[in-house]
Amino acid sequence: MSKRVHNFSAGPCTLPLSVLEEGQQEFVEYHDSGMSLIEMSHRGKHFMAVHEEAIALVRSVYRVPDEFDVLFLQGGATLQFAMVPMNLLGDGRKGGYVNSGTWAQGAMADAAHYGKTYTAWDGASCNFSRMPSQGEISVEPDSRYVHITSNETIGGIRFSEWPELNVPLVADMSSDYMSRPIPWDRFDLVYGGAQKNLGPAGMALVIIRKTVARENNKGIGKYLRYDIQADKDSMFNTPPVFPIYMLGKVLKWMEAQGGVEAMAREADDKAGMIYTAIDKSDGYYGSPVDAGSRSVMNVVFTLPNETLEKTFLTQADQAGLLNLKGHRSVGGCRASIYNAMPREGVTALADFMNAFRAGNPQ
Ligand SMILES: *Cc1c(COP(=O)(O)O)cnc(C)c1O
Repeated sequence: MSKRVHNFSAGPCTLPLSVLEEGQQEFVEYHDSGMSLIEMSHRGKHFMAVHEEAIALVRSVYRVPDEFDVLFLQGGATLQFAMVPMNLLGDGRKGGYVNSGTWAQGAMADAAHYGKTYTAWDGASCNFSRMPSQGEISVEPDSRYVHITSNETIGGIRFSEWPELNVPLVADMSSDYMSRPIPWDRFDLVYGGAQKNLGPAGMALVIIRKTVARENNKGIGKYLRYDIQADKDSMFNTPPVFPIYMLGKVLKWMEAQGGVEAMAREADDKAGMIYTAIDKSDGYYGSPVDAGSRSVMNVVFTLPNETLEKTFLTQADQAGLLNLKGHRSVGGCRASIYNAMPREGVTALADFMNAFRAGNPQ
């Protein structure tokens, strides 16, 4: 087999090797059934067991309280940009949106089609270099929720403290899902695409307060209704069987590592290694974001000039450190170091950054 590289892709991204290998072993014949899991009925005993176990694992690993439903929906995080306001703003109340960058803007633009929205905080004036403090978020009267993006994947910022407002939070957690415990009492709904911390692409994990799912707008297409999805246990239509199966494996891996607390500790340590390489570089590497909002999942950094940046990316590739180019909208470099990124990958990157700086003076 060819050698696996250190893959810093922002998503889809690296998954635990043991999970991939297990999936490979089981792929052609699942548990003596004579067929692959992706060839069998989603209502048969094998898949039902996989489905139920995945839901139970979401609950236990993320400590989801009983008042919430766990849903596996297709359409990724992007469909949730529309589904949230369709379901929750049907009664004429408003959705407040924290504009923290590219993904927040995507959520807000879709919401405007389905309800009244407003900007509860605007990061444009600081060039999206930080998240707001709690006191900076302004909640208008008659708000149904305030929507936040817990981690802006492109800009490389995150909420390091969860805001506590007088209305419930709705959060896009795509790029830091299950990377730390969350205060469930402040949330009505959290969602995210699976393809960063949780498994392959092809679905969103939605965790919604049961009362919220039942009070939703009933005047929309069936697939789009949280109440129907919840009542049918995400089996209203054929669910994304392969992503659900892989999610279960990733969650078992996470559990074996020590759960979300362990993920949080690892993320702090791993991100710390790269931020240290930046901070101790006498300005050779730059970080465009405020220290208090630094993401521990997507570390964005710059080099002294474009020529050095190009050389850096080429040599990193040759050293087996792949996908470090920043998003085309912001440039620079970005190391995505999700839960499954092994420590060795991050050490290798930090060492490479130090060696590159020594070998390529400004
Ligand atoms: C990746 C990402 C999305 C888009 O997810 P899809 O599953 O591709 O729709 C949305 N929000 C954030 C914060 C992301 O990182």
